[in-house]
Amino acid sequence: MKNLQFDNRFVRELPADPETGRQVRQVHGACYSRVEPTPVRAPKLLAWSAEVAELLGFNEADMLDPRFAEVFGGNALLPGMEPYAACYGGHQFGNWAGQLGDGRAITLGESINAQGQRWELQLKGAGPTPYSRRADGRAVLRSSIREFICSEAMHHLGVPTTRALSLVGTGEQVVRDMFYDGHARPEPGAIVCRVAPSFIRFGNFEIFAARGEEPLLQQLIDFTIDRDFPELVLAEPDPAQRHIRWFEEVCRRSAVMVAHWMRVGFVHGVMNTDNMSILGLTIDYGPYGWVDNYDPDWTPNTTDASGRRYRFGNQPHIAHWNLWQLANAIYPVVQDSAALERGLAIYAQTQEAEYQRMMQAKLGLAQWRPGEAGDDALLTRLLGLLTAGEVDMTLFFRRLADIDPAAPTLDPLEDVFYDPARRAAVEPELLGWLREHGARVCAEGLPAGARRAGMNRTNPLYVARNYLAQQAIDAAEAGDLSELQALHDVLRRPYDAQPGCERFAARRPEWARNRAGCSMLSCSS
Ligand code: AMP
Ligand code: MG
Ligand code: MG
Repeated sequence: MKNLQFDNRFVRELPADPETGRQVRQVHGACYSRVEPTPVRAPKLLAWSAEVAELLGFNEADMLDPRFAEVFGGNALLPGMEPYAACYGGHQFGNWAGQLGDGRAITLGESINAQGQRWELQLKGAGPTPYSRRADGRAVLRSSIREFICSEAMHHLGVPTTRALSLVGTGEQVVRDMFYDGHARPEPGAIVCRVAPSFIRFGNFEIFAARGEEPLLQQLIDFTIDRDFPELVLAEPDPAQRHIRWFEEVCRRSAVMVAHWMRVGFVHGVMNTDNMSILGLTIDYGPYGWVDNYDPDWTPNTTDASGRRYRFGNQPHIAHWNLWQLANAIYPVVQDSAALERGLAIYAQTQEAEYQRMMQAKLGLAQWRPGEAGDDALLTRLLGLLTAGEVDMTLFFRRLADIDPAAPTLDPLEDVFYDPARRAAVEPELLGWLREHGARVCAEGLPAGARRAGMNRTNPLYVARNYLAQQAIDAAEAGDLSELQALHDVLRRPYDAQPGCERFAARRPEWARNRAGCSMLSCSS
């Protein structure tokens, strides 16, 4: 198996916890603790991403070498790996929760690929760390499959995200307080190796601010800019200005990320500040979900069922709130509240502009008409109808490209409804909307083929629907990995109709409506 080249700047340049090992404790004055993965009984490679492997310089023979599963199951290290767990805190469901991570993610090192790109390799579920609190540091196969499948799917959808190299079964059982039947039951354990240029979160900065550890805060900010935002170092020689430009850039990237979530119907489910990447990547796939029937109030997270803080339609607002917490955290270093407020305004402007640009593309429009009777109103009416009529979001937008704008009918929408009564209630108005939209499209006069192709490049046909992931999980738990492979494969080209893959484009079946795993998940996965 090939060795990788490592350049572990995080452990080299930032202060370490003087103690090493797994003993749980509050860690002060340090950015991380050195800790090795805890070996597992029988590591076995269950799935991998060929694209991520190639990015790192692994070929298929490397992946299938038994040593691969040993390393990425946590039983061995490659030369140059220097494992550690990062120290961070976070606001959970709106409240400061103190030190809470990273209890189950162990970074192995920062690999430098042949193109000179830096890719951090991180095992999730590799055993306890000083931050594990009372938990075991492990992950179950179920949640690991969900992270593996969805993070790769998001990448292929064009959504900024962390990646996943591999899914390794541990050959061990893990016990979780399952909410399926109220009884704890052992489940197979697994480890995902996730990959990103950096896994630094808002919570990494917040913890030092909360503890008044300002020199450390300053050090982490400058490290992050230097390693992960090199373009800012070149563009802005003045350090104080550079801090401001950096915050603005984090705001911009977070806005783009959330706009994409709204475009594809992704609900993160736990947008705590410890789950917000400083690079504006989607990170920490837990009780996430995909909108089936369009519903801004929907959340997959049962832990959030009463407040619905992290519901689909609230995500733009929550990202803003989280950036506000980041602004508060870095204030002791930046000390310019007006500049931080301008950064937050950049978030709002960017989010709105990006969302509009994406929705315009989804609707196949060449222009966005401003004003009261303009396209904001057209869109709002549509989203209201999709909600009221229980219409499948993904299928509706995909089918919209098949509707003749000169003579719209509801025929192409045969398979997008979930409930006959709700369908009947909105059909007349929906037809009216299609006529108005069709007239807009005709007046713009874009060539039909180009318009349709453009819509199909932004309206995916295949998304990682919760019930599809659950079917792959059920099969994998029974020892059959073919469903997981098939799903992973179809999601690599989400915008291309793939013959023979129709079942992956189907709306959620009725049996899955209220089934755990298919529409409801808890944080404790
Ligand atoms: P989450 O809500 O999934 O983002 O989890 C919050 C934090 O809890 C994570 O940053 C982890 O450090 C920690 N955590 C979650 N699950 C476990 C586990 N099984 N063992 C140890 N720590 C965990
Ligand atoms: Mg997390
Ligand atoms: Mg999590």
